[in-house]
Amino acid sequence: MSKNLTKRSEDYSKWYNELVVKADLAENSAVRGCMVIKPYGYAIWEKMQAELDRMFKETGHQNAYFPLFIPKSFFSKEASHVDGFAKECAVVTHYRLRTAADGKTIEVDPDAKLEEELIVRPTSETIIWNTYKGWIQSYRDLPLLINQWANVVRWEMRTRLFLRTAEFLWQEGHTAHATETEAVAEAEQMMNVYADFAQNFMAIPVIKGIKTANERFAGAIETYCIEALMQDGKALQAGTSHFLGQNFAKAFDVKFANKEGKQDYVWATSWGVSTRLMGALVMTHSDDNGLVLPPNLAPIQVVIVPIYKGDEQFEAISAEAKQLMARLRKLGITVKYDDRDTHKPGFKFAEYELKGVPVRVAIGPNDLANGTFEVARRDTLTKETVISADIVSHISDLLEEMQAALFNKALNFRDSHITEVNTFDEFKDVLENKTGFISAHWDGTTATEEKIKELTKATIRCIALDRKEEAGTCVYTGAPSVGRVLFAKAY
Ligand code: AMP
Repeated sequence: MSKNLTKRSEDYSKWYNELVVKADLAENSAVRGCMVIKPYGYAIWEKMQAELDRMFKETGHQNAYFPLFIPKSFFSKEASHVDGFAKECAVVTHYRLRTAADGKTIEVDPDAKLEEELIVRPTSETIIWNTYKGWIQSYRDLPLLINQWANVVRWEMRTRLFLRTAEFLWQEGHTAHATETEAVAEAEQMMNVYADFAQNFMAIPVIKGIKTANERFAGAIETYCIEALMQDGKALQAGTSHFLGQNFAKAFDVKFANKEGKQDYVWATSWGVSTRLMGALVMTHSDDNGLVLPPNLAPIQVVIVPIYKGDEQFEAISAEAKQLMARLRKLGITVKYDDRDTHKPGFKFAEYELKGVPVRVAIGPNDLANGTFEVARRDTLTKETVISADIVSHISDLLEEMQAALFNKALNFRDSHITEVNTFDEFKDVLENKTGFISAHWDGTTATEEKIKELTKATIRCIALDRKEEAGTCVYTGAPSVGRVLFAKAY
């Protein structure tokens, strides 16, 4: 298998695009901005989904499904929401085609114009809150804790596989609460769920924070986020959780009778993560040889490759391999025995390296004679010989160790790429030479934030929730500031 991946140091962006395709995660489709997610990529997404779904249910949420189409009039009901999404909506105007006068081409049938045009959902707040009106009458109906797994469409101008596509898969949670306090707690809880998932499952360290007014979700009072740092020093918004106040309840007239029998508007949250997480996974851990997958997300955790000459050796090695496979499976480890006789071991080694399989076990004639296995780990590319008596516990411990090692490596990289600066010259210097997060004082105005973005392309990624209180002066205007915020160039 020829890899020929571009090196990260040569062209990080090219490396990423090549890797996603060569590792069989996804490919561009015939439709602009839309990708085909291939079976190997989809298997990883399914693992993410399964774990997130478990976490959502553990925190009391239920899944439901709402329509793909949203009547155009729904959008106009919440002013800032329509402002934010209007520029990237796909709109259905007709419901029928016909054969054109030339008898060959197909054209839209002008007689089949929809009375009310439909928007292909870019997010579902409006259709969901229109529905919630019928579901919520009293405080007894609250909280309403719903999640939906779906696809959405945002007509993005610049797209990149997984990180930003015109159609993407995601989950969107939409909850309704009796009080502001409860809704804020929910939005914070879901940010914490996302952070736990990113860190413990994906081995991606994240910073929890809130967005500035400028970067806030259209229609939200507060947007909580988790921000990650990619290996090229650019940031990636990995998940968002919004406190929506009573904006949507007012727009869709969703009121409830409280315990005192008084009518009040409902408080809302919404939160989502998308197939963008696949991009985060690739960009955080992978190397010049291919994917590196944390064991928790690897569709195949261990692959066994036989090295043999002749049927007799093959039979004996296969017997060993199958026994090992059965013992590992008992521990819940996903194992593949690659006994294809159509490919040489070297080819298989390269393929599993490219696909990021965490542990590779090779069994050759010497191993058979000595009662050993050759165990190679993908992250460090190191090999060792393990005796038969220890092999199962060795692999099980190794998978745990790799999960932790990947997180620590990414954490060290992230932490060594957060630079405090106090002047705008230092700010620009870090962007040019070191990249990563820049921790700097900001005067709190959108005007300054936009000016800095215009001059440097760096945006405020978040105001970290754990930032220390520290009075200072804005790195650009010199005006007073109450604390540092994190800037970075971002995907
Ligand atoms: P939002 O509804 O804008 O808060 O976004 C919800 C989630 O979807 C966030 O985690 C975003 O990072 C992600 N997301 C937003 N736009 C895209 C896109 N075009 N492609 C993939 N993921 C996206």
